[in-house]
Amino acid sequence: MRPAHLFPILAASLLISACGPSKTASVTPSNDFPTVAHEGKTAIVAHRGYWNCAAAGFAQNSLASLHEAQTKGFWGSECDVHLTSDDIAVVHHDDMIRRRGIHTNTRDSFSPYRLKNGEPLPTLEEYLARAKESGNTVLVIELKPHENAAREDRLVEITLKALREQGLYLPERIAFISFSKHICDVIARECPGFTNQYLNGDLSPEQLAADGINGLDYEQSVIYGDPSIVARAHALGMSVNVWTVDGAKDLQFFIGLGVDAITTNEPMLLRELLDNKELKN
Ligand code: MG
Repeated sequence: MRPAHLFPILAASLLISACGPSKTASVTPSNDFPTVAHEGKTAIVAHRGYWNCAAAGFAQNSLASLHEAQTKGFWGSECDVHLTSDDIAVVHHDDMIRRRGIHTNTRDSFSPYRLKNGEPLPTLEEYLARAKESGNTVLVIELKPHENAAREDRLVEITLKALREQGLYLPERIAFISFSKHICDVIARECPGFTNQYLNGDLSPEQLAADGINGLDYEQSVIYGDPSIVARAHALGMSVNVWTVDGAKDLQFFIGLGVDAITTNEPMLLRELLDNKELKN
């Protein structure tokens, strides 16, 4: 993949649209997420790793699922990151574990907990170490909303520190997604060149672009409701991902719509449907 520098594309797209009706596809893409100019290919993002695999032994957000996603060579593997009360970044989907909030309890207090495949709750550090080991899959990091802006700032700070320490502060290996507009704003400011997609579905591509956010990753129902979002985002040089799409009918719809990436629980089915239109690293 080429290094991610989306803002030059955004600037180029705006310049082009200001000068006439040229198509975005004529802009040479240099961002990490594929755009319409990437020969119409679509990237597969394994939702929470490869957790819905029919084979036994995988658990969502586990080191094993990440390893499997990388071994299979998917473009991306998504994971969810929270901060414990003692400021340890951990990878887990729900913000509660056995009725105890991750944000309000220490990392050590979750030591007895095991994922479905027997692994302990992974820290972000462990997750990044595994990501480095087994392939060049892009880690799509979902930074979870926290109680207030200060805790969200801390989550970003600790995540970026971990990425730097692991040598993974690389736009071609990391993409950020979040439901928190505040987190997206911080990433836009602090991580220029990194893919930064907003998840919540309540803002238009134009509103996001105006705030320097260079991508969106909306739930399939949002884009079904207004498919023009995709072309409008592309015209602004933004990357478009859609979550979480399963089943051949829905997958086909979004392939046809030309989204850049699809987050799915059925990555092998998506691969089959894409055939030679799958974007790989
Ligand atoms: Mg997620």
